[in-house]
Amino acid sequence: MALSKLDSLYRAVILDHSSHPHHKGVLDGAVSLELNNPTCGDVIRLFLRLNDEEKIEEIAFDGSGCSISVASASMMTDVVLKKKVVEVLELSEKFSQLVQGEEVEKAEELLGDAAFLNGVSKFPQRIKCATLAWNALKKALE
Ligand code: ZN
Repeated sequence: MALSKLDSLYRAVILDHSSHPHHKGVLDGAVSLELNNPTCGDVIRLFLRLNDEEKIEEIAFDGSGCSISVASASMMTDVVLKKKVVEVLELSEKFSQLVQGEEVEKAEELLGDAAFLNGVSKFPQRIKCATLAWNALKKALE
């Protein structure tokens, strides 16, 4: 597992989110979307509710997967909650650049703990684990 090769700070933040995921659960009556990453076996079911101002009012996720996929989903829910859809789509783009090893200005300010996932850029097969939740979110918002 590539996690052991990430440096210890990254590892601590990722493990914290994967062992105690934020916004884990089910939202009844919300928009939901399921997506999987066959390469690793990760499955996510994302739930979200928008308000009248096109902001994410509530978000939750369920499913199973590796530490990186679960941590990424947890980090993402923290970042996008209460944000406008347009802003969320921009953040999703930034995150995608980040995990592909591109330089993203103010990554931590914009993406919070999700900025710690930049380490996966060194492990191409893990990029799909990290982007699974974000891809599910983009699809759900379409
Ligand atoms: Zn995975």
